[in-house]
Parts: sequence; C-alpha cells; structure tokens
Amino acid sequence: MSDVREELRDLTAAFRRHLEVRGRCGLVGVSTRKSPVVGTPEGFPNEARGERPSFARPGPSREGLETLPGFPKADDEPLTPYPTPPPVLYDEGQVLHAGVGVNALRAEIGDCQRCKLAKGRRHIVIGTGNPEANLMFVGEAPGADEDEQGEPFVGAAGQLLTRMIKAMGYERSEVYICNIIKCRPPQNRNPEPDEISACEQFLRKQIAIVQPRIIVALGKFAAQYLCGESTPISRLRGNLRTYNEIPVMPTYHPAYLLRDESRKGEAWADLKHVMGLLTNMGLR
Ligand code: URA
Repeated sequence: MSDVREELRDLTAAFRRHLEVRGRCGLVGVSTRKSPVVGTPEGFPNEARGERPSFARPGPSREGLETLPGFPKADDEPLTPYPTPPPVLYDEGQVLHAGVGVNALRAEIGDCQRCKLAKGRRHIVIGTGNPEANLMFVGEAPGADEDEQGEPFVGAAGQLLTRMIKAMGYERSEVYICNIIKCRPPQNRNPEPDEISACEQFLRKQIAIVQPRIIVALGKFAAQYLCGESTPISRLRGNLRTYNEIPVMPTYHPAYLLRDESRKGEAWADLKHVMGLLTNMGLR
C-alpha cells in the first residue's frame, strides 16, 4: 500500500514539475494536441538528467531550411529567442472535429449569395491544407487563378507563398491556407467593407475548426482584420498581435513581395519569428 502511495506521490511531484516547466514556457494547462516532439525538445532543460529549467529559450531550428532565392540566407544572422505565446483558447462554443467542421462549413456556405461578389465568381475558394494545422496563413481574396481552380494561393503570389512555406520547413499540405473573403473581387480590386462583413463569419469558423497555434496574416486586409487595427501594414508587420488569444504575425503579402523584392528580408524575419514561436511551443 505504501509503495502505491509513494508512487502516487512521485507521479504527482513529476506532474507538478512538468506543469511548472510548461508555465515557465508560457503554456497553461496540459495540451491534448499531439506534439511532433518526442522527449525534451533540443535546447530545453532535461529534468530527467537533472538540468535546471531556465528562462533562456532556444532559437528556431535551422534544420531543413533551404535558402529561398532572393531572401537572405537563413544562417546569416543569429536567431533571436522569442517568448512563448499563450495557448489557443478560442472556440465558438462548439468544438467540432476538424474533418466534420470542414464539411459543415462547406455545407453552410453552400451556393453563397450573401454579397455582390457571388455574381462574378466561378468558384467559392474556401481553404486548403491540413484542417488540424498548427500554422495558418490568411490572405486577402482569391485572384483569377484561384477563382478558376477553387484553391487559394495557386497563382504567382501563391507560388511564392509555397516557397516561403517550404523554406519554413513545411509542405502546403501541412499548414492551412485561406483568405478573408472567399470570392474573387472583379479585376482583383480590394475587398469592400460589406463583402468583408458578409464573409468574415466563415473565417471565424475556419479558425474555430482548425484551432491554429499561430496565424500568419498576409498583407494589409488580413492583418488589419485579425489585429483589429487600421495601422498600415508597414508598421503592423513583424509585431506579434493576438486574435482570440491566438498569436497573429502580420507580414507582407506575397503579391507585394513580387512587386518589391527589397521587402523580402523583412518578411523572412517575420517568418523566422513564427518558426521561433513554434519551436518554443514544442511544435517543431
Ligand atoms: N492573393 C490572396 O490574397 N489570396 C489568394 O488566394 C491569392 C492571391
């Protein structure tokens, strides 16, 4: 009997230590999400080996990073350690399994006629990738290629986004990609406020379904919507904000990076920041 009590005491003490370490990393409670990291992530103290936890955080891993043409080399500068954001607490009162949620959302959108963009569209472009992704990218609106194929970010800007995602060490299929609005505005003009307000409910639901740990907001419209600010993107970018407690990293839109290559360094710094956060969360 006393053996069982002792074992229970040891287990409780180990669990308390585990919670303390998570707390120091900025994580509250115990995650039920499967982590790709087995054992102690590299650079973190291993308490089993008697190492003391410290507040120093490891920087993002460079492993698997390729050099993105036109971007600074990933190993040119030391990577800064970043504080770990709080866990995702957001859901819409209902937790749906991601697969069920995606189908329910598609059914709810149906043959949407909620705004004037319905008239000119070929496809409603909802989203693509892993509906259980830790990392989500949100752009502005589908363009001609996306409208044609029914998938977000497949044109020239999309190809750059795909290279950026690969440079972060992911495939497109491992992250989730969507837009603020789901139908193409004529001549690729900016989304109008009534279109955003008709469509934003679907982005909110996508975020509730995917429950991403970090969102990258691509360009002014996504950044301003998710950050709830009208600050210009040049000042928003690189500054971490939150959307319902989910960390949001605003950065330049890939279409803008195609027009002004000199901004790629800043965008890459923003993505490295995101990789650092994912590392600190034990998700890379
Ligand atoms: N630009 C966007 O913002 N989204 C797309 O899907 C394609 C281009």
